Amino acid sequence: MSDVIETDVLIVGAGPIGLFAVFELGLLDIKAHLVDILPKAGGQCSELYPEKPIYDIPGFPIVTGQGLVENLEKQIEPFHPTFHFGEMVESLTPKGSNGAPRFEVTTDNGKTFEVKSVMIAAGGGSFQPKRPPIAGIDAYEGKSVFYAVRRMEEYRGRDIVIVGGGDSALDWTLNLQPIAKRLTLVHRRDDFRAAPHSVNAMRELTAAGKMDLIIGQTSKLKGEEGQLSNVTIKTNDGSEIEIACDRLIPFFGLTMKLGPVAKWGLNLHENLVPVDTEKFETNVPGIFAVGDINHYPGKLKLILSGFHEAALAAQKVHRYVYPDKKLTFQYTTSSTSLQKKLGVA
Ligand SMILES: Cc1cc2nc3c(=O)[nH]c(=O)nc-3n(C[C@H](O)[C@H](O)[C@H](O)COP(=O)(O)OP(=O)(O)OC[C@H]3O[C@@H](n4cnc5c(N)ncnc54)[C@H](O)[C@@H]3O)c2cc1C
Repeated sequence: MSDVIETDVLIVGAGPIGLFAVFELGLLDIKAHLVDILPKAGGQCSELYPEKPIYDIPGFPIVTGQGLVENLEKQIEPFHPTFHFGEMVESLTPKGSNGAPRFEVTTDNGKTFEVKSVMIAAGGGSFQPKRPPIAGIDAYEGKSVFYAVRRMEEYRGRDIVIVGGGDSALDWTLNLQPIAKRLTLVHRRDDFRAAPHSVNAMRELTAAGKMDLIIGQTSKLKGEEGQLSNVTIKTNDGSEIEIACDRLIPFFGLTMKLGPVAKWGLNLHENLVPVDTEKFETNVPGIFAVGDINHYPGKLKLILSGFHEAALAAQKVHRYVYPDKKLTFQYTTSSTSLQKKLGVA
């Protein structure tokens, strides 16, 4: 993919704050693309506590993590943001001058963006897969061991082993089983955290002989030059089973790591990005940091703090995107121009 995507602002992270930043930028006629390593929007709210009630969002006495994300998605619909899911923002290179900054941003999926400003809403960092404790697994990663399924076709006709007992493991078991040569699900105990209907569907396929379920732990990998040929599974009674495997997909949960943000030439304070409290700009003009990723005296890692930060940052972004336009403060209740942008007037 070599085409350069040009837009006003690239938002790193589609958590609650990245989503609300789209709204604040949109009111000022600023277009945004969002990139998130996760396959969906919502950051910690969707990934870590979708069903938990939140009690301190102004105006919502109670809303679940997922409920808040769905409302934010609805609220930004009028601004038609473009999402790039399942991709990690890898590099961020300043171009242009201080008065008119420009940035080249690339993702690990080969996309390049040219933007006038960057808003980092990367929360606690990128969610990254936890590695299973199997000796030598790194030699196979990216070649025959994958932590996410990006293109299903790459799994057609393969001997696939999926490891895990949560929703991702079960969902991909059900999705890949029809196209696999043979699919084996390995889990350390015969008890699954995934949705009951997925577990039932997996058990039916196993009972019908269409896939295998092994209770145990993957202990050894065999292969050459990164290409797996067999995996050994140690069952709970201590015996070992070796099976053919040319694609291993472990789902051991996610951990948050600062990741590539550390390499973008920004000042850091204990893995957070220091900003001023007037516009939430970093030490690099044109790059802003909002939400859990930023640091300033008195910072509270609350969703409502991030919303405020996004509103103020958007005001300064306007100066970079429209250097010749004067910005007038307006209320959504009374400004017909804002209401037109929201599609309500
Ligand atoms: C269990 C729990 C309960 C909580 N309860 C509350 C509460 O009651 N009230 C409250 O206000 N707050 C609560 N919080 C905190 C709240 O969830 C966070 O403040 C909020 O999620 C921060 O939003 P964010 O958008 O800044 O970051 P996140 O929600 O962390 O989203 C950041 C996103 O950026 C992505 N990302 C990071 N780096 C990259 C990269 N290089 N490339 C691509 N994508 C990247 C990540 O994958 C992630 O999706 C709670 C948190 C937890 C864990």
